[in-house]
Amino acid sequence: MTLFSKIIRREIPAKIIHEDEHCLAFHDIAPQAPQHVLVIPKKEIRSMAEARPEDQALLGHLMLTASKLARDMGVDEEGYRIVVNTNRAAGQTVFHLHLHLLAGRDLNWPPG
Ligand code: AMP
Repeated sequence: MTLFSKIIRREIPAKIIHEDEHCLAFHDIAPQAPQHVLVIPKKEIRSMAEARPEDQALLGHLMLTASKLARDMGVDEEGYRIVVNTNRAAGQTVFHLHLHLLAGRDLNWPPG
């Protein structure tokens, strides 16, 4: 079981800002922007590389939840970035699929 499953089960504390039947959102412990939130599915999917067609609705739900949170946080007009690091070359460190929602500063492109 990953760290994030333990957060879902409340075995590890986190600053949770949203929960519903399918997902949880909480503040990243090491923020890379003034606002840095993680949106995770309750279903244990290791990474985007493991996502399957039956996860289509769930993946859409994660994206729409991130965009709603961005709206609630008041950063949607100015802009934000949603990132899903996938496996080693992208620097994924926690193998429970998660969306990073980053906002509150200008974000470089191309990303590092
Ligand atoms: P990634 O490198 O894309 O797998 O992202 C994992 C993210 O999880 C990193 O941004 C970490 O800072 C974050 N993280 C690790 N442990 C915790 C925790 N206990 N609570 C909140 N965020 C965490």
